[in-house]
Amino acid sequence: MHRYMLGWTLCALVLLLAGCTPTPMAVPARVQPAAQEAVQAALTPAVPTTMPAAAATAVPTAAPAVLEPTAAPTTVPILPTIAPTAVPQYAEPDDTACQRTSGTTPLPAPGAPGAQDFFRSFRDPLAAAPLYNPPGTRRIGLQAGHWLTDQVPAELGRLQGGSSGGGKAEWQVNLDVSQRTAALLEADGFDVDVLPSTIPPRYQAHVFVALHADGDVSGAGRGFKIARPGFSSIPSVDDKLVDTLNNVYAAATGLPRDDEHITLRMRYYYAFNSRRYCHAVATGVPQAIVEMGYMTSGTDRQWLIGNPDRLARGLADGITAFLRILP
Ligand SMILES: [Zn+2]
Repeated sequence: MHRYMLGWTLCALVLLLAGCTPTPMAVPARVQPAAQEAVQAALTPAVPTTMPAAAATAVPTAAPAVLEPTAAPTTVPILPTIAPTAVPQYAEPDDTACQRTSGTTPLPAPGAPGAQDFFRSFRDPLAAAPLYNPPGTRRIGLQAGHWLTDQVPAELGRLQGGSSGGGKAEWQVNLDVSQRTAALLEADGFDVDVLPSTIPPRYQAHVFVALHADGDVSGAGRGFKIARPGFSSIPSVDDKLVDTLNNVYAAATGLPRDDEHITLRMRYYYAFNSRRYCHAVATGVPQAIVEMGYMTSGTDRQWLIGNPDRLARGLADGITAFLRILP
């Protein structure tokens, strides 16, 4: 395969199958508009002349790097101490649009007819959608990032494994905080789904929040990051969700914001991308991704592992505050 084409394809794959990495990808100084940046990154050869240096270094050029789980930044053995219990069950939908984008449909081959249009289609915002806000008990989806990633369907087969630190894998922390947050919200009368890496096809809830914890091989990274889809179908609502979560989570935890390291991996998170993946959140559902802190920071681990209830309280209160401002 021609190296140019290989690199170009892998760039796109990396963006589409994003997850946490031990090394947060530095975002070019100009965060907005993210959509154009994502497409430029996806459509630019692996050794470009115009791609910002930070973005270029974050995109692997060797094929195995993309297909292997991300290396853990620590030598501490990872022992799965949290036994996953209730794995959500759902039926595959009878939905032709979903079927068309699901299963084993491969990404277009380099140079194939329509390949460029295929990847470019992720650049554009989704069509405006009505807010999903049915009456009755409010439903909240909390995704424990990387939980059961080894059980994803073929369309998500290249997901990364996540970070680690303090003797724990990221998914353990994500699941622990998700379950604590769910308990708080359920006590307040909400319905809550704690979801693994594979979310139900076209998932609908009054709000969906993916929970992750970051990694940084230097160990210097600190703080939290919150982002909404770069191609949101309800951008003003998603912005309110991000703003509310930022304010409440910061106040509850005291953790610093790390907005300058919000990545394309976050903005183009696979679970947001209902245009590409069947197992993605439906349009019209308020949605965001939270990097709760750095697994690789001893200080942040005092919250992530040492005081997860405080993080859960911040998330639950932030989600509740957002739901209150919905019409
Ligand atoms: Zn992650």
